[in-house]
Amino acid sequence: MKTKNFCPDCGHALVDRFTEGRMRRYCEPCGAPVYENPVPASCIVAVDQNDRILLVKRSVEPKKGWWCLPGGFIELGETPEAAGLRELAEETGIRGSIDMLLGVTTHQGNIYDTILMAGFLVRRYSGTPQAGDDADAVAWFDRASMPEIAFSSHKSFINIYYSAYASGAAPCP
Ligand SMILES: [Zn+2]
Repeated sequence: MKTKNFCPDCGHALVDRFTEGRMRRYCEPCGAPVYENPVPASCIVAVDQNDRILLVKRSVEPKKGWWCLPGGFIELGETPEAAGLRELAEETGIRGSIDMLLGVTTHQGNIYDTILMAGFLVRRYSGTPQAGDDADAVAWFDRASMPEIAFSSHKSFINIYYSAYASGAAPCP
């Protein structure tokens, strides 16, 4: 896990201190905690006409060698939607357009602690998938052959798709 060691304002070494209800990194010269928050990211559930979902096999840590949805961190000045579509293009080579937001949730990472993940559905796209940045392979999977997914947040969006939006899905009660 990455830990903040120095104050971003004054550069002094930080300490751990119980303040405002929890243990926090704290700068004694500034007399203030350094607040830490989840890191925002987006991912894409891209589906084909047979309700198969596009997954990428990770070539980088964390979870190298695992399958996950195309996605990544939101850059400064970028919308969640644009970040998802950019990562989709970088990792799989396809250009998509977003149908809808599937959800927003968090998962615990092992490098950046808590990740805030937005998941978007993409049904319309152009291009043929091929492995790009951060990917060893890219492939379509149907529900029955879905491999173990690297991140719990990605898995939740896949489940939301199959339970509510796939063509064979039962309507919401
Ligand atoms: Zn400071």
